[in-house]
Amino acid sequence: MAYIPYIDPQTDELLRQYCEAQMPIANNAKSEGLSYREILKKYWGYDSFRPMQEEIITSIGSGKDTLALLPTGGGKSITFQVPTMAKNGVCLVITPLVSLMKDQVENLQRLGIKAAYIHSGMEPKQVYRVIENACYDAYKFLYISPERLSLDSFRNNLFRMDICMIAVDESHCISQWGYDFRPSYLKISEIRDLLQRTPVLALTATATPEVVDDIQEKLKFKEKNVFRKTFLRMNLSYLVRRTDDKIEYIKRILDSQQGQGSSIVYVRSRKLTEEIAARLNSLGISAESYHAGLEARIKDEKQNKWKNGSVRVIVATNAFGMGIDKGDVRTVIHYNMPENLEAYFQEAGRAGRDEKDSFAILLYDNKDFGAFRKHLYDEFPLKDYVRIVYDEICRYLNIPIHEGAGWNAEIDLWKFCKERNHKYERVESCLNILSQNGYLVYSPNATRPSRLMFNVRRDDLYSDDYDTVPEFSNRVMETVMRLYPGVFADYVFVDETEIAHELGVYGDSRQQIYNALQNLRSFGIIKYVPGKQATFIEFLVNRQEPQHVAISKESYEIRKERAIYRMENMIQYVQYNTKCRSQMLLHYFGDAEAKPCGTCDVCRELGKKSPAEIQKMQIEDFRTSIKLRVHLREGNINEATLRHIYQFRLADFEREFADMKEKGIITCNEGGWLYCK
Ligand SMILES: [Zn+2]
Repeated sequence: MAYIPYIDPQTDELLRQYCEAQMPIANNAKSEGLSYREILKKYWGYDSFRPMQEEIITSIGSGKDTLALLPTGGGKSITFQVPTMAKNGVCLVITPLVSLMKDQVENLQRLGIKAAYIHSGMEPKQVYRVIENACYDAYKFLYISPERLSLDSFRNNLFRMDICMIAVDESHCISQWGYDFRPSYLKISEIRDLLQRTPVLALTATATPEVVDDIQEKLKFKEKNVFRKTFLRMNLSYLVRRTDDKIEYIKRILDSQQGQGSSIVYVRSRKLTEEIAARLNSLGISAESYHAGLEARIKDEKQNKWKNGSVRVIVATNAFGMGIDKGDVRTVIHYNMPENLEAYFQEAGRAGRDEKDSFAILLYDNKDFGAFRKHLYDEFPLKDYVRIVYDEICRYLNIPIHEGAGWNAEIDLWKFCKERNHKYERVESCLNILSQNGYLVYSPNATRPSRLMFNVRRDDLYSDDYDTVPEFSNRVMETVMRLYPGVFADYVFVDETEIAHELGVYGDSRQQIYNALQNLRSFGIIKYVPGKQATFIEFLVNRQEPQHVAISKESYEIRKERAIYRMENMIQYVQYNTKCRSQMLLHYFGDAEAKPCGTCDVCRELGKKSPAEIQKMQIEDFRTSIKLRVHLREGNINEATLRHIYQFRLADFEREFADMKEKGIITCNEGGWLYCK
């Protein structure tokens, strides 16, 4: 599929020159003459920066493209917010998470800094207004999702904005080699071509060395420039425990910490969140369940109970935690093995933000290994299966063959899967693979905005009938009338958060506006259809015959090999008995200098062993690694490849491999492919 630039490059260049000449004198003045520290003090009230923040700020502040690796809770946002305040113009912040966007914008507004965001749930008119304002220097920060960058309506206006910096949050999403690749992130590199003089600050909390390189390449860094805060967490002890009675073990841990802060228990499935929370409650430990399938209001409620300490444990899927900053989390317990060390490190890192001693505990049993293999199969279904699912979805959405380019269809994917007898996760993987090959854009959980219209005429609003409408609801009503003039004629899309902003309401603002609107509805003043989450598939090209659907090596074989590599490292983390857990994590994230921590379970066990015993354990770990390699690639790996992998320890390899073959632990079929018992 050919990429069509939205305007030809020549026009582009002319436009750029024109716009640079026309660049308005900024009236949203920078903090004249203040040092970064003074800005920090003036707006945020802090006296000093946290480690590494100042170096990053100085680098990006001097106009250099910068990649900053800061662990979760390491104060990422300060690194682009402070230098922006020292410059003229607006900082374009690209982030995939709408909830985080809203939080940060609210925080900035509270500090008296002008900020706005654009997300997919907003009506075109609202978007237009924000863009216009941004062109007139009304904001210091404009938050957008990466998807926005592909829209002409946004791109064409970029030249009119005085953009002083681009901040890319979760920048690992741009790397296909990473664990969370999002195709929409690739649009950012196109923006870089348009704004060649604007420096970019890429932020991430987790990236392996190869992803670090890839981010800089994809974002077209002028030269390599990486700042890495050590990921070492001195106050965090890592423990791994194999146990068949996980609940019993969790109870023991939590009992031993009675009265000392709160806990997070991460589990694999939504169903498990409820099961485990119920069991903990029955054991006298207060717990709430949390997962992505809950209504936003319920989620907030549960989260707040946990935050304010009225509930001690939150049992959650990986949907929980983004943007949560609670200091006194004493334990993060993983009830199931996570999919990779990136996810594990980020989730475990939510313990001990207050720098007090805390524990990251991972529990596993044999079932967890089985789940890994199943997961791999779900994530990379056979290519022909991907083609079949493509065809079935097209039929399901009534898209005729050789038509459909540009269609954006809402789909109830659960219903589709149930009717056609497909596994949901597997179908999602198919859609992701199809997305990566340019056939469609899959947007799960996109927000369909709320709709609203007035039931009564404007003049009638002041009749006695409505005397008892509460004062707050009245204010909401007036704001709605001001923001959405068409609301008397027909349904219009409204955004509860925008109404809240306009009114200066913060905190659980959406909820308050929602209540007020429901109230107005009960008086019969308005009709109100609250927004909901829905899944959309946008077709980029006409429907193809399934056999003509091409699946690239990059989107399949290479990604699969990376996924296996991540799984391998995750399993090694739990199975190795001779390498410090903390060290293993840090090595994985590229800190080759990391030393043993002395507090993890491995360090403590090794302290009790003799050198001879340790040597024996090391050989066992080595065998584990060989077995694992074969196990995850069964039927796809031969002896020569394996030998190549272990060339740095060839003598050990030959000895152990021969022994494992002799004992039948590893077998070889006629074609030379290896299998593992
Ligand atoms: Zn250790």
